[in-house]
Amino acid sequence: MKNYITLLKENDLKATIQRTSILKSIDQAGHINIDAIYEDVKELHPTISLATVYKNIISMKTNHVIIEVPMNGEKAKYELKKEEHIHLICQKCGKIKDTKITKQIQQALIVDNFKLNHSQINLYGVCSSCQER
Ligand SMILES: [Zn+2]
Ligand SMILES: [Zn+2]
Repeated sequence: MKNYITLLKENDLKATIQRTSILKSIDQAGHINIDAIYEDVKELHPTISLATVYKNIISMKTNHVIIEVPMNGEKAKYELKKEEHIHLICQKCGKIKDTKITKQIQQALIVDNFKLNHSQINLYGVCSSCQER
């Protein structure tokens, strides 16, 4: 639990028990929507409201602790901020796979001497297990 506290403090947020619980839920799932986060957090804090979870997600998103991944027609999912990467998003089962930024993109940044602050590269399609069905 300790690294969540550090993570929040490093990003100018007070480390509340609600926030650390939300971060733990996101961390364990990898990519998760607000309804599933709420289910997780409610187990530990039965009195917490969806509005409180939502408010905390917004503040952690604003302070770059977590990242919102748009799901194309469905509820957005959230992940902890980590190294820049590309998302392969399955439109059938909703699974998100992280994959590395390609050499071509890295090369383009070098060519233009572009200093990357953050990226959001999402590729939508059908994952390999959904194609088999
Ligand atoms: Zn799938
Ligand atoms: Zn990701």
